[in-house]
Amino acid sequence: MAKYSSKINKIRSFALSLIFVGFLVMYIGIFFRNSPLAMTIFMLLGLLFIIASTGVYFWIGMLSTKTVQVACPNCGKHTKMLGRVDMCMYCKEPLTLDQNLEGMEFDEKYNKKKK
Ligand SMILES: [Zn+2]
Repeated sequence: MAKYSSKINKIRSFALSLIFVGFLVMYIGIFFRNSPLAMTIFMLLGLLFIIASTGVYFWIGMLSTKTVQVACPNCGKHTKMLGRVDMCMYCKEPLTLDQNLEGMEFDEKYNKKKK
């Protein structure tokens, strides 16, 4: 169960890691200050990661409009869920909007379309 986390949280941590990678790449660029070309490449690459993360944050914003707000039956807090099955952001309680899946073991593959 621990390997699953709420989808929005997962994407958010991905965007955050992109920012870190971006700054790291830009930081590496400083070591190449003797070579303006290499430094410029690292700086642009770092900038690209940060732009990508901005894009991901934008994507989260778009996804957030499609989420359904539900009250978690376990902890009572209001959490957002995405897709047919997702997880409570606070207590990691599996949640589903599909009555047929209720009571079944949590599995992210339920979100994929059936053949
Ligand atoms: Zn909960």
